Amino acid sequence: RAKETGKARCVVYNARHSSPTDHDISLEAAMFQAVREGEFVLYYQPIVDAGTREIEGFETLMRWKHPTLGMVPPARFIPLAETNGLINLLGAWALKAACVQLRQFEEAAKRPLYISVNISPRQFRNDKFLDVLDDAIAYSGLAGEQLVLEITEGTLMIDPVHAEAILGKMAERRARIAIDDFGTGYSSLAYLKNFPISVLKIDRAFIRDLPGSQKDGAICNAVLDLAKHLSLSVVAEGVETEEQLQYMRERGCRYVQGYLTGKPMAANVAVAALREHHYADVMRDQPQRATG
Ligand code: C2E
Ligand code: MG
Ligand code: MG
Ligand code: MG
Repeated sequence: RAKETGKARCVVYNARHSSPTDHDISLEAAMFQAVREGEFVLYYQPIVDAGTREIEGFETLMRWKHPTLGMVPPARFIPLAETNGLINLLGAWALKAACVQLRQFEEAAKRPLYISVNISPRQFRNDKFLDVLDDAIAYSGLAGEQLVLEITEGTLMIDPVHAEAILGKMAERRARIAIDDFGTGYSSLAYLKNFPISVLKIDRAFIRDLPGSQKDGAICNAVLDLAKHLSLSVVAEGVETEEQLQYMRERGCRYVQGYLTGKPMAANVAVAALREHHYADVMRDQPQRATG
């Protein structure tokens, strides 16, 4: 066992000391293998109501469970998949699997929830994307409104004319569009006027130093004000402290997502949490009903 681990480390060691390109190539080769071996898994992070702390939905976050490297974070493999085109395959799988997973979440929670899925720029531009979307909705049987597609400002800006057409098609399917990492990309606010956007996700970079940072506070306030007047909902990303949650909640931010209210978790862990919560609710409600 010790020898095995030693060997595995040696491989990593060698890879690290070769040029970054070689390392990427070996990781890339491993990725194709990983798809065949089923090493990619989906984690789910709760998106909660800032006031009630009830789970309203989940963001789907991809993980690579590599047999020797351990958990490879998406920041390492998504850019590679984006370059080699594997993202189309991985993304189609993630979208369909997440939609199916939502049914089990709802079953456990005994109430409607939504699922949010990240769509990479290359996926968004792919000819087959709308077919993939239709297949995921039809196969899972969820209502279009229960699906939120997260795209970045960059995705919209590569080709705004094409983006507008695709967003229109998404809206026809009633799927909602969220702008991910809002405020960090190169973009024009005009797209908020012209495109059918429903949700702004304020990037973690603007939340991290709250409530101390006046500048971040000013930016968050401005975004919340803008969203209110455009009837968009806002999710604060990366909320880690109670103070950050309260700051955003008091200023009208309805939803939060972050380690404070739930880390990304395996599907079975999320199901257990939803069931337990539902059960706790039932137990709490029963005596009240009994006494009228
Ligand atoms: P993102 O879509 O902005 O996802 C939020 C990231 O913030 C996740 O990182 C999540 O684990 C992390 N996060 C959430 N709450 C907190 C917090 O309180 N503190 C801190 N420090 N971090 C928090 P993750 O899972 O490593 O994903 C990174 C990025 O990789 C995602 O950013 C997204 O752009 C991309 N990604 C992940 N899964 C997929 C996928 O299935 N498809 C595509 N195209 N991209 C994905
Ligand atoms: Mg996201
Ligand atoms: Mg984000
Ligand atoms: Mg982000």
